[in-house]
Amino acid sequence: MTNDTWGTVRNELQRTVGQSNFTNWIEPLEFSGLNNGIAEFSVPTNFMGNWVARNFGDQIKHLLNEAGEAVHRLEFAVASKSTPRAPQVKPAPTPAAEPVNDSPVPGAPLDSRFTFDSFVVGKPNELAHAAAKRVAEGGPVSFNPLFLYGGVGLGKTHLMHAIAHELQQDRPDLNVVYLSAEQFMYRFVQALRERKMMDFKELFRSVDVLMVDDVQFIAGKDSTQEEFFHTFNALVDQNKQIIISADRAPGEIKDLEDRIKSRLQCGLVVDLHPTDYELRLGILQQKVEQYRQQYAGLVLADGVLEFLAHRISTNVRVLEGALTRLFAFASLVGREITMELAQDCLADILRASDRKITIEEIQRRVSEHYNIRLSEMIGPRRVRNIARPRQVAMFLSKQLTSRSLPEIGRRFGGRDHTTVMHGVKRIEDLQLHDSQIAEDLELLRRSLEA
Ligand code: ADP
Ligand code: MG
Repeated sequence: MTNDTWGTVRNELQRTVGQSNFTNWIEPLEFSGLNNGIAEFSVPTNFMGNWVARNFGDQIKHLLNEAGEAVHRLEFAVASKSTPRAPQVKPAPTPAAEPVNDSPVPGAPLDSRFTFDSFVVGKPNELAHAAAKRVAEGGPVSFNPLFLYGGVGLGKTHLMHAIAHELQQDRPDLNVVYLSAEQFMYRFVQALRERKMMDFKELFRSVDVLMVDDVQFIAGKDSTQEEFFHTFNALVDQNKQIIISADRAPGEIKDLEDRIKSRLQCGLVVDLHPTDYELRLGILQQKVEQYRQQYAGLVLADGVLEFLAHRISTNVRVLEGALTRLFAFASLVGREITMELAQDCLADILRASDRKITIEEIQRRVSEHYNIRLSEMIGPRRVRNIARPRQVAMFLSKQLTSRSLPEIGRRFGGRDHTTVMHGVKRIEDLQLHDSQIAEDLELLRRSLEA
């Protein structure tokens, strides 16, 4: 293989991985040779090599093969210090300046599309958005940490990247680091293995703003938690801003040490609620604006966006994916985007989000949540610690399924519909002034709808 082939593949990658990924990860790679089907590259750091292998390896291999090279494996080796070309890796989101030392604080690349401008604000996310905005102003630290949580695809990562982008722009003096909890662990393990714990500690403790995404990942991973806790404390003590995200509230993360939970709860905890119809429609409209440039001349019939916003209520990622596919398909076949086209082209997505929640599923989840047996849930006993979960399950069955009261009664061990009605009413009343019940309901609903 020649450098030319690699050049062609690089150009291809630039189009497929996006500019910021390209600059951060692909550009610094240097092709050093192809031997026995193994394509060798030199990279500035081990971390980079591993990252590229994991995230872009398959793609690179595929493209090389498409370019006519029989490549079955990639290898990344750290370039020796004498390599003439300076490493160009910019540990996003540190400022564009060259890294000061050989091992800049590792951060994950930022998605250039995830900005505040492209974030649509609605009722379900307005608090999270406001808090993120505040932190992005880079003023005095007012709450530490900012803890953002919510279900999959509701915009946690988007908001964190938006904060990083804004800080990067307005406060280039700050050392802002964004990474996932998984990457944090990965770095930590690597430092242990390479006996570079001191470096690791120093690096992380020299940041001004630390963002750790999907922190639920470190639950159950004891030594990583330990280190995270120390890093966290060291930064808080120095009054450095920390921003954390997770898929649930700190208290709900199983196998997370209590001392970490309580520290996480010390700052501002805000959640991103599931999207509502207006927000989904707003997001779709914004996307369409972008697509209008990309697919000039494409006609979108009235009502299609409303239809999608109604029918795809899972997460924003799915919603965006649906729209992307729809536009690509319509432009490919040169047709107007109508309701029929949408139904055809998105049949699988529409079917999947049609998923019906069953009473059995509700009973099972509720029993698990309250730690009672399923047989007790539908059995005759009326002691409070069984009757209450049963009423919760009845309430959720009424709310989340289309079953009638008599039908629900039948599934709960043949109870009368008036019993169900009473149970539903009881929970309706309770949730207004019993915050524990309200929280239980929210959690159960969220997990059932996930
Ligand atoms: P999470 O990290 O919570 O799982 P992401 O931040 O990755 O979710 O969001 C998933 C996708 O949905 C991204 O493409 C993101 O840009 C988009 N998205 C989520 N919420 C919004 C919003 N309010 N406005 C615009 N795009 C959004
Ligand atoms: Mg995320």
